[in-house]
Amino acid sequence: MIIVKCAQCRRKIFKYRKIGKGKLLHCWKDRLIEDYSLCKQNEVKCQCGNLIGIDEGKWIKMKQHAFYYSGNIDRK
Ligand SMILES: [Zn+2]
Repeated sequence: MIIVKCAQCRRKIFKYRKIGKGKLLHCWKDRLIEDYSLCKQNEVKCQCGNLIGIDEGKWIKMKQHAFYYSGNIDRK
């Protein structure tokens, strides 16, 4: 599980179950464990107003450099 945080204010945005290596480009909504973000229409924002990603239905397309993450990645 990883914790995705805002690059501007360092608040938590998501707890997310990431599977596999590589960059976090999308967040599948069914793998979100906890969601602290604010959603306005299809924009997923931090509480500070930083745009984190775009809700595209089944997943959130993450905006690179708007966030960072820490934690363990499941290897399956
Ligand atoms: Zn923020």
